[in-house]
Amino acid sequence: MHVLVFNAGSSSVKFTCFGPGPDQILAHGMVERIGLEGTLLHCQTSGGQQIKREVDIGSTREAAETLAGCLVNPESGCLDSLEQVQAVGHRVVHGGEKINQPVVINKWVKDVVREYFELAPLHNPPNLEGIEAAENMFPQAVQVGVFDTAFHTTIPPEAYLYALPLELYEDAKIRRYGFHGISHQYVSRTAAQYLGIEPGSFNGIICHLGNGCSITAVKDGRSVDTSMGLTPLEGLVMGTRCGDLDPAIVLHLMEHRGLSLEETKALLNKNSGLLGLTGGRASDLRDIIEAGAEGDSRADAALGVFCYRLRKYIGAYSAVLGRVDALVFTAGVGENSALVRRMVLGEMDVLGIKMDHERNQATVGKGIREISSPQSLVRLLVVPTQEEKEILGQVLSVLHTHHNGG
Ligand code: ADP
Repeated sequence: MHVLVFNAGSSSVKFTCFGPGPDQILAHGMVERIGLEGTLLHCQTSGGQQIKREVDIGSTREAAETLAGCLVNPESGCLDSLEQVQAVGHRVVHGGEKINQPVVINKWVKDVVREYFELAPLHNPPNLEGIEAAENMFPQAVQVGVFDTAFHTTIPPEAYLYALPLELYEDAKIRRYGFHGISHQYVSRTAAQYLGIEPGSFNGIICHLGNGCSITAVKDGRSVDTSMGLTPLEGLVMGTRCGDLDPAIVLHLMEHRGLSLEETKALLNKNSGLLGLTGGRASDLRDIIEAGAEGDSRADAALGVFCYRLRKYIGAYSAVLGRVDALVFTAGVGENSALVRRMVLGEMDVLGIKMDHERNQATVGKGIREISSPQSLVRLLVVPTQEEKEILGQVLSVLHTHHNGG
């Protein structure tokens, strides 16, 4: 069985080709900087062939076609024909309240993806273009949509409603949706399995810390709250996004600093977060830690704000859950930065959290690691996220139901 996982983003398209055995990766690759100068194609097959070259690609569709071409390239490809692909799993960002599980893509699903263009303008349009390109290239394959918002559809109203006039929820669907759901779902289930807890009774707090950051409270295996909201701008401090702020700041910027709508959007999404706090020096946490070590006080302060916000959410979600089996770190920062984990968890005795500093510091391989001390009431884990593998798992479960007439 060959399954292709497609992730068409705002300026990149990534794919992984799994098969024929379960979890076997035949090839993976991406086209990045689509529509910009220096568009790059990377592709690597399990046979060791590597392609990296500049390409002239201006759309998601062209990127998808080029990547498919790499799969069947007679010299460097890994498939004899595109007809070998039996299913394509598409990562889709926004399915709103309508899609709460992976689904076989049909006209209704595509209409839902289109309906949420307004709420996910950078992601849903390329997602749909990727789906349509794949339908043309792989007409024999089952197309499956795996939605980033789906895991969070179990969040209850008290956590998803904003305290705004109710018609804004009822008519305009303004509410918390949450994102990074595929990662939170994978990491939460994997942590439960590692601890020998039935996933359906696992209570945990999952910190996904990459360029984008979000934290999710998981109760009985289901998401009950998450820090990203109507859009991925809310919540934790991120590379370039501000996370939580007083909404009156936005009004103030427009009223008193004369910022236009576009300028305000850019300020909050692209020039804030760690980049903003360092006065434009860096958004990448490695650079910030390095700058802090060299005596840059803004970099130190940025790191402080980043960690403080996270501590605050951990406290809040502990109160939401009542019982926390595990606190889990994942994604680029969460998996790799012992310093951030120490700054966040160092003094959390009030929650019964006790970190083992040696275990936290050790970098042993790429697998799951426990970093709590035996006295800790909450187990502390580092779990590498594997979104592609999660999408594959969800595609296979949909195929199973599909073939059994479900
Ligand atoms: P994305 O959200 O783009 O998928 P990643 O999950 O790859 O992001 O995370 C990227 C972030 O991880 C960057 O800020 C990078 O600095 C950070 N990171 C990666 N390795 C380390 C490390 N060893 N120490 C601190 N931060 C790291």
